[in-house]
Formats: sequence, C-alpha cells, structure tokens
Amino acid sequence: NPAKVYRGRFAPSPSGLLHLGSLLCALASFLDARANKGAWLIRIEDIDPPREQPGASSAILSTLAAHGMHWDEPPLFQSRCHARYRSRLDELSTAKLSYRCACTRARLKSLGTSYDGHCRNSPPAENVPAAIRLDVSRCCSQLAAEDAMLFGELEDFVVHRKDGLFAYQLAVVADDIAQDITHVVRGRDLAPMTSAQQLLFNVFGAEPPRYVHTPLVVDNLGNKLSKQNRAKAVADTQPVHNLLACCSLLGLIDGEVTETNLAISSLDDILAWAISQWQVNRLPKEDRMAPPEYQGKF
Ligand code: GLU
Ligand code: ZN
Repeated sequence: NPAKVYRGRFAPSPSGLLHLGSLLCALASFLDARANKGAWLIRIEDIDPPREQPGASSAILSTLAAHGMHWDEPPLFQSRCHARYRSRLDELSTAKLSYRCACTRARLKSLGTSYDGHCRNSPPAENVPAAIRLDVSRCCSQLAAEDAMLFGELEDFVVHRKDGLFAYQLAVVADDIAQDITHVVRGRDLAPMTSAQQLLFNVFGAEPPRYVHTPLVVDNLGNKLSKQNRAKAVADTQPVHNLLACCSLLGLIDGEVTETNLAISSLDDILAWAISQWQVNRLPKEDRMAPPEYQGKF
C-alpha cells in the first residue's frame, strides 16, 4: 500500500472575513502541506446561505492571496456540490443507516445534549418536515469491534437539516473524500466534530484523513475570535505583520518574532522561513492563546 500523496485543505465558511484566528488556521494548514511537499486546496463551505455575508468568499480568497498563500487547484464551492451530498444521503438511506426525525426544537432542547433516538423507534409521517439523522448504532454494527467502541458514544447526529440544508458533517466528509484529502489542519473548535466525521468516512468505505487541531486565538477578554462575534478582519495591506503574529502564536519561534530579528522582509521570505520551521508537534498545547504583544492590534 504505497503512501498516499499529501493533500490538505483550508475550508472557510463565508459567514465573514478572515480574522487573526482563521488566518492562523489557514497558515497552519498551508505550512503543513508545504512542509510535506503536498498539495493545498481551498474549499469554500457555502452551504448555509442565511449565515453568509455577501462578498465574503471572494474577500477570503483575496486575503489568502495577499498573504502569499497560493492554492494548487481551483477553489471548490460547496454550493455547487449538492448532487454529491444528495447521493451520499441516498446511500445512507438505501443502506438503512439513517432515519427521519421530526422532533421540535423545544423537544430537542428539553433532552439536554444528546438525542434520544425517539424517531428511530417512532418514525414521523412521510408528509411532515423532518431532519435526517445517522443511525449510529446500526453504523457501528457494521464496524470492527474497536471502531464500534470508539464511535458508540456518538449521538444520532443530523446529516440533513429540517430546513432543507445539508448538514456540515455530511458535506465536509463527502468533499474530503471527493477531494482525496489526506490531512486536515483546522481550529480546535472543530475537534469535537472529528469522531462523527471519522464514522462517516468508515460508513462510506473511505480512509479518514489525519486530523490536527490548532489552538484558538482569543481576544483580551478571553473570547474566541469568531465571525459571529464580529472579530476584526485582518488587513490585506499588512500581510507580513499578520503572518508574523500567526508565526508567533504557532510557536515557530520563542519570544517576539519581528522582521528585524529574523532578517527577512518579503512575504515569500517569511513563508519560506515558516515552512522550514514548521513542525506539527511543536504546536502550542494550550487550547486558547492571546499573546499580550498582539492584544488589541487586530
Ligand atoms: N467550514 C468550517 C468552518 O469554517 C471548517 C470546516 C473544516 O475545516 O472541517 O468553521
Ligand atoms: Zn426525532
């Protein structure tokens, strides 16, 4: 079984522009791909139109380009891949590995965190609006014992939403398979999603990628920078400054990283230096980081 070529990806949702935390994820996945002589792909995860910000997709691509992070294949837009998600859903339903769930938001809320499988046992009528959930225990019964153990704790998560949208979990796995992704480097906020995704890879008969999760960047109040809480967008006009901030956060150098103490000036120089320094196991172990020297500057 020859080693697969490395294929990594950065998969932003266009719900806002890139802030320092998302730039850091992009840089980490870019550096990991380049340090492994791999391909680096962009996937725009535009499957949730109500949460999208007009113009964000093209602004994200411009920001990546302005920071010298060039992708190797044309960006994939999830909005153009509905046929693929539909056929994955059909596959699940044909294999009886999914079921319709018409539970109300209020009922789900009353359950607390984990879904109780109510609609697996009492299927809703055909004509009522329903989400589609993965039947985790049926999926597990097809797996080797140790894998079944690993995934057995998962709830029957949603693969198609009641509002008619494809669920993130389904789309991300369908595309990681379609794009032959071997390595995922992304923010630690997505770490809890990983086992559901690995289960879907198993169900679809595909080998899951390696997952690495980068620490989250927080503001001076300790809140995660996020598009939802309107974190400030990084400025395309100061890419070197932004990349140095990310390099410092990624633990590529001890102490403060500045243009003078690295004796580098151009964007290409800093990226080449960062690729040469990159080691996945040197990533900071903290979950959240807010180095004082950068507080308030972004
Ligand atoms: N689109 C997701 C986000 O922006 C990331 C998906 C992934 O990297 O798996 O949060
Ligand atoms: Zn239900």
